[in-house]
Amino acid sequence: MKEGCIFCKIVQGEISAEMIYEDDKSIVFKDINPQAPVHLLVVPKTHIEASTDGFTSYDAELLGSLFFAAEKAAEISGVKNTGFRLIINTGPDSGQEVPHLHIHLLGGKKLGRLVGD
Ligand code: AMP
Ligand code: ZN
Repeated sequence: MKEGCIFCKIVQGEISAEMIYEDDKSIVFKDINPQAPVHLLVVPKTHIEASTDGFTSYDAELLGSLFFAAEKAAEISGVKNTGFRLIINTGPDSGQEVPHLHIHLLGGKKLGRLVGD
């Protein structure tokens, strides 16, 4: 856990969020500022910095479990069959706001272009 990290606080229940799915490694909750009818954040319970520092081989299992959690959350929120998009913002050009690794899961409508202006 990292001091002052908003997603660590959600993991610890210090800040509330609308939970969709949880397992031993990950949580999935609704984004507070949704960009699509379904907009979820898939977040590892441990604090991993999403940065250009990159991952180590020790992160492989945890990273895999995030995609498993994303698929479960897609199923629960009803977009598994209609389709969805997973996005990881990394670093300044991506507009990343929260340094704790997270995957955006977007769906529930026909999504626009992959990259905005
Ligand atoms: P990023 O720009 O990729 O770092 O995405 C951070 C996302 O976290 C944004 O889409 C925010 O709307 C979302 N967010 C920030 N604080 C909260 C919160 N307390 N609960 C839910 N989502 C949040
Ligand atoms: Zn954190």
